[in-house]
Amino acid sequence: MNFPPDIFPAFPDMAPGEVWLVGAGPGDPRLLTVMAIHALRSADTIVHDALVDPRILRLAREGAEIHFAGKRGGRPSPQQRDINELIIAEAKKGRRVLRLKGGDPFVFGRGGEEAYALVREGIPFRVVPAITAGLAAPALAGIPATTRETNHAVILAAGHRADDNSAAGAWEALAATGQPIILYMALAQIDEISAAFLRGGMSPDTPAAIICHASGENERVLETRLGTLAADAKTPGIEAPAVIVVGANAGLRAVLAPGMLKT
Ligand code: SAH
Repeated sequence: MNFPPDIFPAFPDMAPGEVWLVGAGPGDPRLLTVMAIHALRSADTIVHDALVDPRILRLAREGAEIHFAGKRGGRPSPQQRDINELIIAEAKKGRRVLRLKGGDPFVFGRGGEEAYALVREGIPFRVVPAITAGLAAPALAGIPATTRETNHAVILAAGHRADDNSAAGAWEALAATGQPIILYMALAQIDEISAAFLRGGMSPDTPAAIICHASGENERVLETRLGTLAADAKTPGIEAPAVIVVGANAGLRAVLAPGMLKT
């Protein structure tokens, strides 16, 4: 790839002892940012999540040390504290550290917590944003996040907070806005969440979609309505990682998808 310097002025060098918090996008390596590729080619140490596609890691420079920091084989994920310690220790050794996360590093990715830990240690860091799954997955499925006809706002929400008592009533309040809700990490809690949306005043006819493995070879899209969402989420093959869209915009897929080329 050739980057004309007048369009891409000076990529910042990744200096020894720096940490870069970089998003890897939804999975397909073609959806990486140019800065993410630059970081992959520069880093001495890469610490990545389960959602980072293995093909992306093959862009690492030869000799880079690659650490996996995610869930594997049903075992619990490493503690956030351990991940912070690893990144900090590697930076203090003078390595160029790439903390690579699925989607965008600051959207439900705990990038903020890692940045905070780095600030406390006085370690210089950079953030490289990327396409978050909550926007990429619907787009790839023919669902615009907004259109003037359907919505003027969109809500990104993490489903696993459904069991958090502090969130009591919160789902109903989101539903009452009448704006589409895009859910991350919500498959396991979809019964409770969709019931709360109905209580919050959303019609059972509200269009909904589940998008699994967006941008991957096993991408799968299920179109439904709020009233049948919880039952349809149990369809074999509907599995994490998945983004769920509930709102008028989800209904546009029926019109747009037939004319869309596969990205
Ligand atoms: N920082 C990430 C989100 C991490 S939380 C981002 O900005 O995208 C993990 C959740 O993201 C998953 O449970 C799922 O809801 C969603 N997700 C990530 N990659 C996905 C993909 N390729 N397809 C569908 N959902 C995905």
